[in-house]
Amino acid sequence: MTESCWQERLIEARGALFIEIDDGCNRQIAEAIKAFEDEWKPYSLESKCYPLMGLIKRLLDPVIDDYVRSLPSSPPHNLCGIGIKHSFSSLLGQIGFETTYRCLRENIRRFSKMDYFSSEQGNEFIATASTLMFLADQLRAKRPVRIPIKDEQQKSRGVYKRSVSNFWPEFCPLCGEISEYQAFISNPNMSKGKEDDLRLSQYCSSHRPRNSDGTWNPLYKQAIQSKEQFDIEFKRLLCQVSQPHKPNTMSGDELIDEYFFHYLQDKMPTLEQMDDCWNSVQDIFSEQDRLDSATYELMNQRISEIYGTSNALERKDISQLRHMARRMVDLRLNDRKKRMLALKKQDLNHIQISAKLAETEGRKISSQAVSKALNGIRKEFILI
Ligand SMILES: [Zn+2]
Ligand SMILES: [Zn+2]
Repeated sequence: MTESCWQERLIEARGALFIEIDDGCNRQIAEAIKAFEDEWKPYSLESKCYPLMGLIKRLLDPVIDDYVRSLPSSPPHNLCGIGIKHSFSSLLGQIGFETTYRCLRENIRRFSKMDYFSSEQGNEFIATASTLMFLADQLRAKRPVRIPIKDEQQKSRGVYKRSVSNFWPEFCPLCGEISEYQAFISNPNMSKGKEDDLRLSQYCSSHRPRNSDGTWNPLYKQAIQSKEQFDIEFKRLLCQVSQPHKPNTMSGDELIDEYFFHYLQDKMPTLEQMDDCWNSVQDIFSEQDRLDSATYELMNQRISEIYGTSNALERKDISQLRHMARRMVDLRLNDRKKRMLALKKQDLNHIQISAKLAETEGRKISSQAVSKALNGIRKEFILI
C-alpha cells in the first residue's frame, strides 16, 4: 500500500477541514469565509502555485477591512489592530496562526465582559471576532507542526510532525494515541519493508482491529461501537477548551454545556495566567507599530513562559482531549449522568434532581435511582 493511498484513507476517515461560523457573525464576512472554504483545500504556506496567504489577502482582507471601518467609534472596538494597524493576512504572516488565535481569544474575553458587547448591538462584533479566531485556529492545520504526544499517564511518547494539509490524521480514530501507521512513517529508523507495511493500521496498537495472529481484537470491537459518542465528546471538549470563559459546548442542552464548562475549569489556564499573557502581548503591541520577527519571537517566548510552566489544557492538546473523551465513553459517563452532575453542582438534593430531570427529559426517575447513579460515578468526573 502506497503512502498517498493511506493518506487518502486517513483523510476520509477523519472528515475534511471545516470552518466554524458563529451565529451572528457579520454576513459579508461569513460569505467571504464560505467562498474561502470552497477554495482553500489545495492551498498551503509553502506552495508557489497555491499560496495560502495570497488567498486570504484576496478573499478575506478587503471584507474584514470594510467591516472594521464600519464599526462605531464609541465604545471603541478593537480586533487586535486588524483593519487599522494591519490586515488580517499580514497579522497572520507576522505573528503566526497560533499567536493570532490566542490574541483574538483574549480580545474576545476582554470585550465580552463589557455590558455593551453582551447586548444585541455588540453581539455581531463578538460573533465576528469568534469566527476569525476559529479561522486562525483551523489555519494552523495548514502548517506543519511538531506535536508532543503523551500517553494516558501524561508520559511523553515523543514528538510527531503533523502533516501539512490534514486535520488530525496522526491519531487513532478511537483515542488520543498515535496511529500505528503514523508512528511508522514518522520513525526513520524503522525498516519500511513490505511486510511491515501490511501489518500497520490507522489505529493505535491497542485498538487495531485484528491481532497479529488474525483474530479479532475485543478492545477494537468495544471501542468502535461507541465511536459516534466518542466523536461527540471530543468535539464538545474541543469547543469548550477554545472558549473557556463561557459554556461553549454547543450541545443544544444547557445542563450538558454547564457540565463541560465546570468539568474543564480547573484543567485550563487560570484567569490570572490568561491576564498575564494578554497584558504582556498588549505591552508588546503598544510599543511596536510594526511587528518584526524579533518582536514575534519575544511574544511567543512570553506566551510559552506563562502557559508553558503549567499543565493547563489548551486547544492544541488534541491528544489529551481525545484520551479524555475516550475515558468518558469507556467509563459510561452518559448525558443523563452529566445532567445529574450539573444539577448537583447547583446544590440541588436528590429529590430536586429527579424532579428537574423528569421535567427536562420527559420521563420519570426516582430519587433513589438518582443517588444510585451518582454514587456509581468515578471521582474524576465529579464537579467540585
Ligand atoms: Zn486507539
Ligand atoms: Zn466549536
